[in-house]
Amino acid sequence: MRTVIEGAAVATVDAAGTEYTDGHVVVNGGLIESVGPGPAPDYLPADRRVDGRGCLATPGFVNTHHHLYQWATRGLAQQSDLFDWLVRLYPVWAGIDEDTTAAAATAGLVRLARTGCTTAADHHYVFPRDAGDLLGATVHAAGEVGIRLHAVRGSMDRGTSTGGLPPDSLVEDTAAALDGTGEAISRWHDPSPGSFVRVAVGPCSPFSVSADLMTGAAELARAAGVRMHTHLAETLEEEKQCLSEFGCTPVQYAERLGWTGPDVWLAHGVHLSDGAIRTLGESRTGVAHCPTSNARLGAGIARVADMLAAGVPVGLGADGAASNEDGGLGGELRQAMYLARLRDGAASFDARRALWLATMGGAACLGRQRELGSLEPGKLADIALWRMTGVEHAGIADPVAALVFGSLPPLALLLTGGNAVIEDDESCLVTEADVARDLNAASVKLARKAGMLR
Ligand SMILES: [Zn+2]
Repeated sequence: MRTVIEGAAVATVDAAGTEYTDGHVVVNGGLIESVGPGPAPDYLPADRRVDGRGCLATPGFVNTHHHLYQWATRGLAQQSDLFDWLVRLYPVWAGIDEDTTAAAATAGLVRLARTGCTTAADHHYVFPRDAGDLLGATVHAAGEVGIRLHAVRGSMDRGTSTGGLPPDSLVEDTAAALDGTGEAISRWHDPSPGSFVRVAVGPCSPFSVSADLMTGAAELARAAGVRMHTHLAETLEEEKQCLSEFGCTPVQYAERLGWTGPDVWLAHGVHLSDGAIRTLGESRTGVAHCPTSNARLGAGIARVADMLAAGVPVGLGADGAASNEDGGLGGELRQAMYLARLRDGAASFDARRALWLATMGGAACLGRQRELGSLEPGKLADIALWRMTGVEHAGIADPVAALVFGSLPPLALLLTGGNAVIEDDESCLVTEADVARDLNAASVKLARKAGMLR
């Protein structure tokens, strides 16, 4: 199956930053066959020719941090900071089950795809007893929507009785959490090239996980050859607690427990000293930057420009939709650029850097920089084709600036592995009205269980 896209502006995001104002992308057998200026060679037989005039082709975006189950618990704890927000939401999340998780994950993945995302990492760390197969529901949802999933099997084993933040009823015991993580790896992890499902280990955060679970999870991950993910250095309150409890900063704590390295990516990394940034850069530990969520919870502004200068692989994350009700990835490019400029000035961060974070930066966080993140021959054919001809974008000569500075354009086409996921701004594989109806039912069910509705 060969697809030829012609007549489009192309931002390849390759190492040289190559762009074409009028170029082509040829897809064959799930991979990119060629990219270049002008039309594709006319001797190539094509099963499908896409008229890309007025469009911009970019690599599909990579979302490096999310909690899909939270799609069913949006709009709550609107004025809270992180710890207060968590304490208010834990009792609602205690009600999730396989059905609500499936509905929330499908809706969240549709939203991601509609905003240009072709690969998503989902950090699922709430496993109420007898809730059914929550990870399986998420894996199934990703297959239905058609995007690649990195399922992070999260865990919490530190409830309030042992100094943690979550209620005891919501945590697993350490051995059960490790067993569940091992089972997820053997059941779902597909290490093959072009894989649509990979698994990572993901103890939730220092304030909800014991040191034993952190080290046990690291051993398990390294024995199985899977990646490691956790929340770190999100708020000043977390840093304060870490200093008083462990006598070190969150990054020193992570380092002590074996949680730095090229196989680790951390969510947030907002409050980092120069030394901490150096540690992450030297160890090539990745960071999932979640600008909207950080703003929503008033957590702070991550030092993205400093991290990039130190060699830290930085990607973008939508984060859970309970702290980012938009839940899309496309808007995070603009948000990341704006927050970086608020911190370091207007010249510190440009649109192309934001595009890099969403593509190559994200691919590096997930260890897939050879397969994903740029439009180059041999890479997976995960491609977003943005329509730039509407009133919102017409007249902006630089299409990458229109994409990042402007509102998010409609998608003419979104491909994963060469197959259409979105066409003319609508899902090809699921009916969005049904997804919205199921999501609403799931949200009502959870609100009722939590006593918020009668
Ligand atoms: Zn998160």
